[in-house]
Amino acid sequence: MIAGIAQRIDEDRLWQRLMDLAKFGATSKGGVCRLALSNEEIQARAALLAWAKSIGLKPSVDAAANLFLALEGREPRLPPLLIGSHIDSQPTGGKFDGAYGVLAALEAVHAMSELGDRPRRTIEVVAWMNEEGSRFAPGMMGSAVFTGRRKLADILPVQDRAGSTVETALRCVLDAERDVPRRPLGFPIAGFLEAHIEQGITLEQQGCTAGVVTGIQGKRTFRIEIIGEESHAGTTPRSVRRNALTSAVAVVDALQKAMWDEADTVRFTIGMFEVSPNVPSVVPGKVHFSIDLRHDNAHVIERLGNMIPGICEANRGRCEIAIRELLYDAPLQFPEEMCSRIATAAQRLCISHMRLQSPAGHDARYLHYFCPTGMIFIPCKDGISHNEAESITPADAAAGARILAQTAFELANQ
Ligand SMILES: [Zn+2]
Repeated sequence: MIAGIAQRIDEDRLWQRLMDLAKFGATSKGGVCRLALSNEEIQARAALLAWAKSIGLKPSVDAAANLFLALEGREPRLPPLLIGSHIDSQPTGGKFDGAYGVLAALEAVHAMSELGDRPRRTIEVVAWMNEEGSRFAPGMMGSAVFTGRRKLADILPVQDRAGSTVETALRCVLDAERDVPRRPLGFPIAGFLEAHIEQGITLEQQGCTAGVVTGIQGKRTFRIEIIGEESHAGTTPRSVRRNALTSAVAVVDALQKAMWDEADTVRFTIGMFEVSPNVPSVVPGKVHFSIDLRHDNAHVIERLGNMIPGICEANRGRCEIAIRELLYDAPLQFPEEMCSRIATAAQRLCISHMRLQSPAGHDARYLHYFCPTGMIFIPCKDGISHNEAESITPADAAAGARILAQTAFELANQ
């Protein structure tokens, strides 16, 4: 029976839906610009709802616009199993980041409904709201609010660049879906599975079709502000200057040296750097920059991150320095029971697979703290992602959906 479900996965149907969903927000270079809670996303959600209706799934939506499409189980009062990902994209994103996980999940429940063998628990396809965080920062908003990591009231005032708030944008989506029944935030769930493109080159390099994701890399982010004093470039002697840029260069150089590791496992990035007033004949009075630090090992990221304030203080020269830590997400390991279940499913289906860690963040991070969670990766060409050129093969897409369907069916029968 279990092999029957995997065999029912229809590669062409899954691929066609991937191509159809990619039309909402399609860019001229073959990518997708489907920002969270945008009109393009509202249209894409309508397509999901139409597919769900044709399969006989029950839709629902919560106050954070997380969208659920339920294949009712034999015992519908038990907490359901959730499977899915997100359908918002980066402004110059690809067709598959997130969308793959939602449509692979839809294909999985479609296969089950065709087979006519309902699992014990209800299985719900989920599209989490605003995973990317490119319109409204930070990302993973829907999953954070659902799992209680953040409060709905805290995300409502967040603005995009045009000054629209999450509250206004949410209202547009929920108005467009006013016929869809409402669900409470954080209803009890039995588990969560997310299929996703790898966004790296490991699977491709190892010639594997699927990845059993063992965990997610830890991440800490900081904002550093260095305050000096603006003064005349022609008249101010070096001895009295308080040059914020000179101090910033010293701080950055010291940080780079401290974060250097022989094994090349530390991911340390200064991706934003602003000098003001940023004019040629004024000694810079202020520098503002970001730090993004990531590592697999909890002790390493703790130790390195904790060194940052001291290094900043020691190298600030005559300037003032303010250090703000915005985010500290420790590395996490998914439960071994989920990993081995996914690996066993892949093995039974004769799909080549390996275990690997996810360097990128996913909604599965927040679900991990809420219920037993697992992730499945499929390869993407040259590891290119967050890019319009993102590419996968129909065969890999179907293989991932088969593993997802089989694992989900087993879990939902528990
Ligand atoms: Zn994603």
